[in-house]
Amino acid sequence: MAAPRTRPTPLKLHHSVELLTGVGARVAAQLARLSLTTIGDILWHLPTRYENRGQILPLGAHLVGQSALIQVTISESKPLMRGKARQVAQGFDDSGDITLWQFGRFGPTLQTGQTYLLFGEIREGAHGLEMAQPEMMNSAQLEAILPVYPSTEGLSQTKWRTLVAQALNVALDDLDELLPSTLRQREGWPSLLVALQRIHVPTLSEGVPQRHEPAYVRLIVEELLAHMLALRLKRYEFTQTAAPRFYQKSNLYQRLLSRLSFKPTGAQDRVLREIQSDLARGSPMLRLVQGDVGSGKTLVAAGAALTAIEHGYQAALMAPTALLAEQHQRNFAQWLSPLGIEVQLLSGQQSAGERRAGLTALADGSAQLVIGTHALFQEQVVFDRLGLVIVDEQHRFGVHQRLALSDKGTHPERAGHRPHQLVMTATPIPRTLAMSAYADLDVSIIDELPPGRTPITTVLVRADRREQLIARISAVCGQGRQAYWVCPLIEDSERIEAQAAESTAEYLRESLPHLRIGLVHGRMNAAEKNAEMARFKAHEVDLLVATTVVEVGVDVPNASLMIIENADRMGLAQLHQLRGRVGRGRIASYCVLLFDEPLADKARARLGLMRETQDGFRLAEADLVQRGPGEILGTRQTGLAKLKVADLVQDEHWLELARTLADELIAEQSPAIPALIRRWIGAAQHYGQV
Ligand code: ADP
Ligand code: MG
Repeated sequence: MAAPRTRPTPLKLHHSVELLTGVGARVAAQLARLSLTTIGDILWHLPTRYENRGQILPLGAHLVGQSALIQVTISESKPLMRGKARQVAQGFDDSGDITLWQFGRFGPTLQTGQTYLLFGEIREGAHGLEMAQPEMMNSAQLEAILPVYPSTEGLSQTKWRTLVAQALNVALDDLDELLPSTLRQREGWPSLLVALQRIHVPTLSEGVPQRHEPAYVRLIVEELLAHMLALRLKRYEFTQTAAPRFYQKSNLYQRLLSRLSFKPTGAQDRVLREIQSDLARGSPMLRLVQGDVGSGKTLVAAGAALTAIEHGYQAALMAPTALLAEQHQRNFAQWLSPLGIEVQLLSGQQSAGERRAGLTALADGSAQLVIGTHALFQEQVVFDRLGLVIVDEQHRFGVHQRLALSDKGTHPERAGHRPHQLVMTATPIPRTLAMSAYADLDVSIIDELPPGRTPITTVLVRADRREQLIARISAVCGQGRQAYWVCPLIEDSERIEAQAAESTAEYLRESLPHLRIGLVHGRMNAAEKNAEMARFKAHEVDLLVATTVVEVGVDVPNASLMIIENADRMGLAQLHQLRGRVGRGRIASYCVLLFDEPLADKARARLGLMRETQDGFRLAEADLVQRGPGEILGTRQTGLAKLKVADLVQDEHWLELARTLADELIAEQSPAIPALIRRWIGAAQHYGQV
């Protein structure tokens, strides 16, 4: 028999939801599904929107997209189809007209000449305003402004309101105010309790709570502040640890340059200098290098690696895919073997023997540079003297994976030593995000492309006109150039994706019998994929049919035509990456985006922008607005992707204030700091390892 539950008084916010009236095991389980376990969690479960059922709004006001209460007189009403319980009616008030649709059998029957109070969502229809399935209200029912909570099956909005009311009651005596009162006075912000009351139980006289009003703003700023603090602390702890000092300019790098057919750009030189000054400092470098596709990040990485190697340490480069790791391995081996440096590959797809040999070379220090995928930070991997970790295409990894690899460098005999970290990304991170999500990193930008690149011409072609492309491919390959044909990404099915790629290759082989056509897709094993890529690189293949595996980093400068199927379904970042596979040399390059009609508005805008610009930063800004930061960074990337109230796009202008506040609180060693971090980030995010 279960022990009788005693209800502690007074209730506290950290107590279990089960202590609330009306919460038994069933409701508790439903709440747990939303990760809400304490009374405090309920308090912080904020409404996503409001229904204003208290105020009759005129049709002439801008109501599209809102749920509104309207009072209309019916001018005409008829069944939509004979014999069916469907009705369409025309209603009007002093300021406008609206069409009312009634589909089910149980809705109100709207009689011509009568006036009704109706509640529902107002949309823009073909002939003006529309409301479907209006709820009929009578004036006695008129309620206040009702919050609408994100919910889960079985939990009604009424239930939410009773839960929140109880949580607010508990909060009366148990809610810490963490923002300095001087700040609140200066900004005219309410206390936390008043703000939460306003948000959860808005009164009719104050109207629907708005995002820009003080109650919300104080929450937004508080949340941004908490994240800034967490990142600052993490950064601070990091700078307190020691790292090997690489103080000499690298000779090896000079020797590498003397063997190359090109000179580094000014931007490459500058960024490498910034890196080298970090490496000489004695505390771990944490630097993000941003550079658009083709800007030459690999050479900068090589310079950094050689600096570490010259000082007797090992460097590790982590790439997001096996394909890319192997390409890097080949390039680096070609660059560095003549300098007497051993470059080791470590990937999950090696044979057991190769892997064992690789592991041994890392552990005994004979491998000076190791290149690999996620396989690099697995448990069995032990380094002799890891001094530098380089992460390529950072957006593909989470913060924690980066940290896991950096942990490899904390050698027991060199307690407290951490390797330096260099993070490279071609996905330009908009200023807003860089400022916040990457507050723990210093940023260098390679803002110059190697000379002699010609801009890529981007054209849009309807998928049913793809025949036109055959001649284009034939001409391009006839001139000794190469082309990519990228097949659509098919969610959740590598098998179907591979089939689509195979049948496309077959179709192209029939249409272009004189060309050598290759194929890579995700169902091939690494060796097959590599062999095929190598053949393409060696120009033994003219046209490469591929799934989106070629997205990141693949470098074949002789390729000048990129054809992307189903471009309308891809995001800007991915399209930009794919397009970046061409235009890598002096040849004029083309990118063809195939799309299907009808095009959704957003897709049309994306493709239009792709045609208009090659500027990765502009594309990234647009991507941020369209998709939001969570998707761009990936949810694992940063706690910031999971903001509860704030939104990096809408609330960008508050970041500066949050930053200043973070500095102030840190300077005065405010006791509010841990409480803020706990409240907004909680235990879920662990910063402990850094
Ligand atoms: P990304 O920044 O996209 O990783 P890569 O490092 O792959 O770019 O470089 C793209 C291509 O440009 C490679 O073929 C590389 O050898 C070449 N490259 C790099 N730096 C220069 C330079 N300064 N001048 C000419 N070519 C360069
Ligand atoms: Mg690259």
